Amino acid sequence: MGQPVLAEVVAPAGECCSVAPSGALIEFAENNRATGFASEYTSPAGNRYHDITANRGPIYSDGPLGVDHHGGCSEIGCLLQAVDAEGLDGLGGDMVTIRNRPPNSPIPPGPPVGLGTPATPCDMCEDVLDANGINY
Ligand SMILES: [Zn+2]
Repeated sequence: MGQPVLAEVVAPAGECCSVAPSGALIEFAENNRATGFASEYTSPAGNRYHDITANRGPIYSDGPLGVDHHGGCSEIGCLLQAVDAEGLDGLGGDMVTIRNRPPNSPIPPGPPVGLGTPATPCDMCEDVLDANGINY
């Protein structure tokens, strides 16, 4: 969108999150504006995957992530990409999530609630992350 990367204006990791969002994650959100969140997942091998909140269909407990989930969260999109690329060895890494905002959102970027603000995974995602040994 031609806007400056927000890495410098976003506060460092605070009460909610153990890891500050990377400039790459913020840039990904700026280039994929939508209502919801954006996540960056780093697999144990060091590969990075990005995704946003999207209607990608449910996942089930008999699938690779082992937990039922509606599938819409950005975290799930990242993990499905990682499993596609690396198989189950791709699980067990680190997840970082930030708020995303649609184009023309009246909410200014950055904290307290704008694009780039660190966010905590929802309860359903926490179940998936915990079950797969993923830090967040
Ligand atoms: Zn979630």
